[in-house]
Amino acid sequence: MNIHSPGQVPGRSLQEADTLLLRFGEFTLKGKNRVRFEKVIYRQVREMVKPYPQVKLLREFGRIYVALNGAPAEPLAEALRKLFGIASVSPVRTADSELQAIIEAARSFMEALAPEPGTTFKVNARRVDKAFPHGSQELNRLVSGPILQQFGHLRVDVHHPQVELRVEVRENGTYLFCENLPGVGGFPLGTNGKALLLLSGGIDSPVAGWSAMRRGLEVECVHFYSYPYTSREARQKVIDLTRRLSRYAGSVTLHLVPFTEVQTAFTGIGQDNLMVTLMRRAMLRISTRLAEREGALALVTGESLGQVASQTLPSMNVIGRATDLPLLRPLVTMDKNEIIALAQEIGTYETSILPFEDCCTLFVPKSPTTNPNLRIVERIEATLPGYEERLAAAVGRTETLCITPFGNERPADEAGESAIDEGWF
Ligand code: ATP
Ligand code: MG
Repeated sequence: MNIHSPGQVPGRSLQEADTLLLRFGEFTLKGKNRVRFEKVIYRQVREMVKPYPQVKLLREFGRIYVALNGAPAEPLAEALRKLFGIASVSPVRTADSELQAIIEAARSFMEALAPEPGTTFKVNARRVDKAFPHGSQELNRLVSGPILQQFGHLRVDVHHPQVELRVEVRENGTYLFCENLPGVGGFPLGTNGKALLLLSGGIDSPVAGWSAMRRGLEVECVHFYSYPYTSREARQKVIDLTRRLSRYAGSVTLHLVPFTEVQTAFTGIGQDNLMVTLMRRAMLRISTRLAEREGALALVTGESLGQVASQTLPSMNVIGRATDLPLLRPLVTMDKNEIIALAQEIGTYETSILPFEDCCTLFVPKSPTTNPNLRIVERIEATLPGYEERLAAAVGRTETLCITPFGNERPADEAGESAIDEGWF
């Protein structure tokens, strides 16, 4: 998936756009939920255009029209393409529903598009307003005639044109558009429930979080740290990563779990090669309790099959059994380079590659097992003195923060610009 690759003529029609047409993703198919989903997405669009009070929104079945009234088309289109649930964004030029005005608009629209010689073309008109004096077929001819005259190098292709100029004649105006810039698709945020994301400071888990959010999950983050073995910087890094994710959500809750006491329960028991297995299971146990407390119905991790010793199938099997909740692993079949490309697109990569110590790398043995035995692991856990109390204490001492794109950990972030002005999307 490439959320940045626009269509065949990359966004040129944005120059001429006075309106953006937003189409919804697959959720339009889901009968009963559709109205609810559309409401959510409408609210989010309204939130996103807030910095531009002149913008007006118009809702229609399966679509939202964003009348720009002078607001800049390009940054808004870029931001809206990244809103979960938006399947595509078309830059629209509007005209009065009157033949000459439509032809003039079509002309200047095509000028902005500047199609290469030999580009194939067709006009696809639709008369929504039945009072308009020309039918759809007739309008196709009436509009394409002057266009073909002016752009002599276009070739008509009615079946698979490279440029299809759509003309929708309505009572209150006519919409012209020809590009569908792909959006991220998925479901509007939060419409499929809530999950807890196990967020480390690495590359993978933020991408997993974004992927879960794209499926309509509201995500709260859980991070395990081992102060004083891990530094304040490592903690700040996780806050920064959460902040990056919060750009897609408005705000994200982050739970910081003190993990040192739990981890040290595993040292000195002569089971170093099971250390990672034990730690991951402990993370899942604690996360499950936090999920219950927060009303989340699933856990999300950044695991990818085969990536490291703890992510072989036998390891995942033994680790995953520490929770009864569905364990979502959005990256499980992805290659590392695909994950990196996505991390770059969603803006988490630069933060993820900053150096930091993860609580797990500190206590990790030279040769962690790739094939742990569930019975043995369970027996070890059952005989660790005070283990249950340590888990409960970690939950009890968890600190919860609400992270927003312009939070107060970084006063410089509070300059009052919108995320759009900042080029964050
Ligand atoms: P990442 O880039 O997300 O760290 P990774 O490939 O380095 O992933 P691991 O370090 O083995 O993988 O971690 C596997 C998963 O366990 C992570 O994706 C994350 O979901 C979770 N995890 C690991 N360490 C932590 C931590 N300190 N706090 C919260 N979750 C963690
Ligand atoms: Mg990691």
